[in-house]
Amino acid sequence: MGIKDYLMQCNEYLSNFWGINNEKNEIGFRMDPSTSTMQGEKSASPTRNNSTLSPNEKQNCSNAMPTYFSFMPTLGDFKGFPLEIFEFMLGYLSVKDISMMSMVSKIIRDRIINYISTPSGNRKFFPQDFHNQDQSDSAKSSILQHYSSLGLLFKRCTLLLPTKERLKYIYKRFLEIPCFQFYGCADPLHCLGLQCYGVFLQTVTAGWDEDECERVFNFLCDVTSLPQRIQRVVSSKPGRFRKLELRIRTFCRGVLLKHWILQSDSVFWLTCILKPWPSVIQARLLYLMFGPASTEDGNVDWRNMIQGPTDENNLKELADAVKLLYDTEKDEWLANDIVSLVDELAVIPQEWHLENSARFLILCGNNICFPFMASKAVDGRAIELARLVVFLALVCEKDLYCMGWSVKMMQKVCNVFSSTTEKNVFLQSIENAFAQMIMDALQLVISGEHDEEETSFLNLFHLVNAQANFHKEILYLTMNYEE
Ligand SMILES: [Zn+2]
Repeated sequence: MGIKDYLMQCNEYLSNFWGINNEKNEIGFRMDPSTSTMQGEKSASPTRNNSTLSPNEKQNCSNAMPTYFSFMPTLGDFKGFPLEIFEFMLGYLSVKDISMMSMVSKIIRDRIINYISTPSGNRKFFPQDFHNQDQSDSAKSSILQHYSSLGLLFKRCTLLLPTKERLKYIYKRFLEIPCFQFYGCADPLHCLGLQCYGVFLQTVTAGWDEDECERVFNFLCDVTSLPQRIQRVVSSKPGRFRKLELRIRTFCRGVLLKHWILQSDSVFWLTCILKPWPSVIQARLLYLMFGPASTEDGNVDWRNMIQGPTDENNLKELADAVKLLYDTEKDEWLANDIVSLVDELAVIPQEWHLENSARFLILCGNNICFPFMASKAVDGRAIELARLVVFLALVCEKDLYCMGWSVKMMQKVCNVFSSTTEKNVFLQSIENAFAQMIMDALQLVISGEHDEEETSFLNLFHLVNAQANFHKEILYLTMNYEE
């Protein structure tokens, strides 16, 4: 029979096959519409079934992909085809269809697993077009989508293996992809590789419980030496190992942090990275992963927060990460932990410009800003807090936030001081700080040290307006009405 005849028959058989497949699904499995994975997959989890296996059974499976039982014992209508034709047909099917097919029977699944390792399977399943900068957004999302579908295929093909074996199998396949390796890509800044790895991982681990996901994290740590690399970076001054910092940042963001849909997943993976370390290192890692980076070479910009006021965009991701940890309902991140994390962050690598600290607190929101300031009030640090209040007002003025918010925050913090004397010192210090900062700004303008963008004049302008609006809100409050 010629190849054309074979292909015509293939078409026919495939139509029959899908009929059978759908029927099976109705009888045998219920498809979960949200994840397109089989419900009941977890109950078939090999970790739970392991104990029922005899050592011999395990041994028999050592060379091929072990399978402990099959859904259907045969190849069905495919048995008339030589292997080559079967694989030839797979070449014409989408990854999604092949992953559906892998659930039909043990033999079909084994054949698909074999096909994955063949050169044509390799070309089909592992496209490596990660560096095409001219790619449109839709082309980029289509390669991400491809790796997400591939995740589903691998999830289904390794369904009955213990988690560690599944990971080893996946890792072995990925070893051949340089852009999936920690140091493998020559241009990590313009590479989609790690992101594809991330969406793949997201699909594979969807629905897994935390113990299993922790195994995944530990496995990735083992094969990438991530903790040792982090240790090396945090034992030295920020910026000492720029390239390694960049690799840690791109790996953690691309593979472990970026693609989660549920907030609880994001928290879980971020916690995995941070929890082994003390809060001072956690803060350093947060900055490393979410802090501002150079647009030219991607290196972490450690000087950004200390040189002068910085843009809101440079702080946003950092604030979002802290908020994420605070918002979690887990006991692992108590309010106190977050306060000390924010405290540590504001001195990385040296004390931040106070305007940046104020901007960061505003981005973090009330739930973090107030406990942070209250903890300082409890320690009696009135003068330091007063300066921070003035900067809160300045940022509200510059970034167009509601000035009433900073006045209310000042009121709440004032109430934390226990004695009237402390409250008075706090309020007096706010007025002094306003006066002092305006005088300093004026001095700078008078000295004539203008830069091209007139920053010193603009700063004075904003400060005077901030003071006026801040006091306007206080006047409204004392007159008992709102704007
Ligand atoms: Zn690459």
